[in-house]
Amino acid sequence: MKQKRFLLQENELPTQWYNIQADMVNKPMPPIHPATHEPLGWEDLAHIFPAECCKQELDTEHAWIDIPEEVLDKYRYYRSTPLVRAYALEEALGTPAHIYFKNESVNPLGSHKINSALPQAYYAKIEGTTNVTTETGAGQWGAALSYAAKIFGLEAAVYQVKITMQQKPYRSLMMRTFGAAVTGSPSMSTRAGKDIITKDPTHPGSLGTAISEAVELATTTPNCKYTLGSVLNHVALHQSIIGLEAEKQMQMAGEYPDMVIACFGGGSNFGGIAFPFMRHNILDGKQTDFIAAEPNSCPKLTRGEFRYDFGDEAGYTPLLPMYTLGHSFKPANIHAGGLRYHGAGMIVSQLIKDGMMRGVDIPQMESFEAGILFSRTEGIIPAPESCHAIAATIREANKCKETGEEKVILFNLSGHGLIDMPSYDAYLNGDLRNYDVPDAEIQKFLKDVPQV
Ligand SMILES: *Cc1c(COP(=O)(O)O)cnc(C)c1O
Repeated sequence: MKQKRFLLQENELPTQWYNIQADMVNKPMPPIHPATHEPLGWEDLAHIFPAECCKQELDTEHAWIDIPEEVLDKYRYYRSTPLVRAYALEEALGTPAHIYFKNESVNPLGSHKINSALPQAYYAKIEGTTNVTTETGAGQWGAALSYAAKIFGLEAAVYQVKITMQQKPYRSLMMRTFGAAVTGSPSMSTRAGKDIITKDPTHPGSLGTAISEAVELATTTPNCKYTLGSVLNHVALHQSIIGLEAEKQMQMAGEYPDMVIACFGGGSNFGGIAFPFMRHNILDGKQTDFIAAEPNSCPKLTRGEFRYDFGDEAGYTPLLPMYTLGHSFKPANIHAGGLRYHGAGMIVSQLIKDGMMRGVDIPQMESFEAGILFSRTEGIIPAPESCHAIAATIREANKCKETGEEKVILFNLSGHGLIDMPSYDAYLNGDLRNYDVPDAEIQKFLKDVPQV
């Protein structure tokens, strides 16, 4: 009998997160102040984020960071997540490759986001915060944070990108069910929102606009901290639980990945599955190939520039060193809402620059074709974001078919698509299309990036 699913016992769960910054040959460049261009310390960020998250953000020293017992206790409700050998997908493709996926969709929130929502809410709570605020695109992060806030006794206010609020109404309902207040962004409830609407009354919203509004609320409300579901280093740190479990589970399967693949919005699920394995490339001479799959309509990794840029539309955040399309870039309204962000996290940006990993870009139609094949073979309907990782995996598995190589491919299934069925409806009805970004468009938005 061929074993298909690999799970860890509760007492085998990792008790520390892995911080790749400690092992990186070239450390990420620091965030800097937009006016003075001085590097920022954790104290400079602590009026916005929980202090412990700020310390983790800039920690280039400690490779292993203890997971607080209260967070581990919540992780035990749904972890470990299964590592699965995708025999049926392999067979449908006729590939000699061994395809594994880590199934982060099997928790009640439906995506990996809960792995960082829990510690962020916990750290906010123990330093005396009463309220948390955040932005959300497709709503997975907002839903995860709303739940985490509730179980740690905090009030949550979520700004959701207006266009996705309309595309995915059930996620707003999930957030409200967990007790959060949800507002479509851009809104008239903040200065930033009013400015954006004044300039463009039909602005569909973006993660950039929603971040501006949430940061403004956090900085103008007492006892309120801002939390972020992706991009930042401490988020990738919390997500390392995915790769650390996968490392043990791959051992149970008796294999080691030649390739690790994940979809890419800001880099948290990618970093989560990839960094614990990349550690062995850095320290032990392993040669695993790391691939981040982004939508070709928002191609910061493959066509962006490495620059200091703002993390949000209004320019409230520090300047971050990132591969960016420009903070005012307006991505097409693709259904993978979680991948519509203009920039890449600081760690990933440095790793791309250093040739430790690479990006590939996937057209929307190819992503849904991949998601449909995965649904019809493995029986799981993937989130539109995760479909990009599956499409990149299928490309590599098809290459193995040509060369006859039995490569071991591991990808992260970042979430399920059961709240995204209108996207599948549009695809099945033939209403979806690809969006290409002309070079001139990218150049236009890069002009708004500050000169440093
Ligand atoms: C948010 C999200 C993403 C993209 O964010 P990353 O930080 O790049 O992981 C991908 N998949 C799902 C299901 C998401 O919810």
